[in-house]
Amino acid sequence: MSATILLVEDNEQNRYLATFLLEQHGFRVVSARDGHRAIESVRAFVPDLVLLDIQLPAMSGYAVALELRRIEALAATPIIAVTSHAMVGDREKALAAGCNGYIEKPINPETFVAEISGFIVPPARGVEP
Ligand code: MN
Repeated sequence: MSATILLVEDNEQNRYLATFLLEQHGFRVVSARDGHRAIESVRAFVPDLVLLDIQLPAMSGYAVALELRRIEALAATPIIAVTSHAMVGDREKALAAGCNGYIEKPINPETFVAEISGFIVPPARGVEP
């Protein structure tokens, strides 16, 4: 079964590009264009990874990360922050909010999927009899 990624991104072009690249590599993508929709969506499924834009309307990516981390089912789900603000302290803020990693925009189509794949832990195997 392929991994499912929750893509939280308000910019349509970025959403389109990320979805295209991920689907091309066999990932399933569920997208949300703001934090409230993202939080709502994880009531219905547990993603294998969350790609989280930090510059979002209404609710910042940091706030979304904090909320997602409060959900028990997502305790082990990697959350990767994506931001165009290469500001000093962004990485620290993202990690403090519960993110596991950080990718800078613009998305590099050559390396994007490899960067994300590195954060996905393969499912645990059942105990052999
Ligand atoms: Mn944005």
